[in-house]
Amino acid sequence: MNILILGGGGREHSLAWAVMQNPKCDKLIVAPGNAGIAQIAECADLDIMDGGAVARFCEENAVEFVIVGPEAPLAAGVADRLREAGVLVFGPSAAAARLEASKSFTKEICDAANAPTAAYARFTEAEPAKAYIRAQGAPIVVKADGLAAGKGVIVAMDVEAALEAVDDMLGGAFGSAGAEVVIEEFMTGEEASLFVLCDGRDILSIGTAQDHKRIGEGDTGPNTGGMGAYSPAPVLSAEVEARAMDQIVRPTMAEMAKRGMPFQGVLYVGLMIENGQPRLVEYNVRFGDPECQVLMMRLGAQAMDLMHAAAEGRLSAAQVNWADDHAMTVVMAAQGYPGDYSKGTEIGGLDDLPEDSSNIVFHAGTKSQGGAVLASGGRVLNVTARGDSLRAARERAYEMVDRVDWQDGYFRRDIGWRAL
Ligand code: ATP
Repeated sequence: MNILILGGGGREHSLAWAVMQNPKCDKLIVAPGNAGIAQIAECADLDIMDGGAVARFCEENAVEFVIVGPEAPLAAGVADRLREAGVLVFGPSAAAARLEASKSFTKEICDAANAPTAAYARFTEAEPAKAYIRAQGAPIVVKADGLAAGKGVIVAMDVEAALEAVDDMLGGAFGSAGAEVVIEEFMTGEEASLFVLCDGRDILSIGTAQDHKRIGEGDTGPNTGGMGAYSPAPVLSAEVEARAMDQIVRPTMAEMAKRGMPFQGVLYVGLMIENGQPRLVEYNVRFGDPECQVLMMRLGAQAMDLMHAAAEGRLSAAQVNWADDHAMTVVMAAQGYPGDYSKGTEIGGLDDLPEDSSNIVFHAGTKSQGGAVLASGGRVLNVTARGDSLRAARERAYEMVDRVDWQDGYFRRDIGWRAL
């Protein structure tokens, strides 16, 4: 099978790695890819937001299966355009991608599905929103309805901060993404994510993970795209996972199908868990980055068969062959990230790492130049390892991190602290 993956981050490097393990893959192309992906697959310069261009590329290159990495092309309808052109694709329609692209829509679906989540109200005008905040008190959470690259959520610890967030969002700080705000009850508990494949009818859990959003050790400082992750997440025990499937995922998927927008792809189920009871924080309609890296490390070659089964509507007969293993990824970022950071610094030592199926460095923001690997983004490398315990995976990951020769690199030493 000829396969095309859309995207160029650490998530897509791990997807490419898993696909390349599978003998059913004859040829893999990744658009746009990065320096690490270029070592294992062909990279193509293609506008992945342009569904027509992607469909033409598939025809010209005899691509039989497309895996969409990021949310933006999904929300823009690239998967719809590919299906119209008769290309098999892993990823939801634009209509179903609203589970990520509109927080109001997700709340409406949760109401209809009776799925446990934070109490909320929606507003397009500032004054009633502010009156609601004053009546509820703090802490309280203010969210821009649309996609805002992870910056459209303010967890306000006092009323003033919440009122300010309303003014910012409805005042246009996020453009049309902030034309409506969702104001939510502040939930307490421990956060973890559940990943579920869906084929429009059947669903299959493919694992759990926990991310580290803050830049600083001990979960301090500004938010980032994610500084590390591990799988499985102990807080999502089999019992809690079963509750999340029964009370949240299954009813949501049934409601989507009922509304004529069946969901096909991977559903990222962000949960808040308190006293063993899961409540929905958010849905994403694609793999998380860096959670994907630990999931792919654990699933290996079967990941491709599972995604293919989801795209073809064959999930009822699919199952995951679990090894009793654990995986961890440590993100190495450029000094200064998530603020201003320098680009173009050289990373050494990568060729001498003992990489095998249990130790891999997935590239995020890198490019190659004259044989050298240069940092080209904020989050640059995902040093990923597997072990028969989380502790073992962690030791291996940090051993590799210490062998990477990159003066400008920054990473957290405490990934996994909650579970360990
Ligand atoms: P990202 O893309 O970074 O995951 P997002 O913009 O999709 O973020 P959410 O995931 O909805 O936004 O919220 C971001 C974070 O804010 C959550 O991971 C959680 O820590 C916190 N948060 C969101 N909603 C609530 C809530 N109701 N109660 C407590 N914390 C919340």
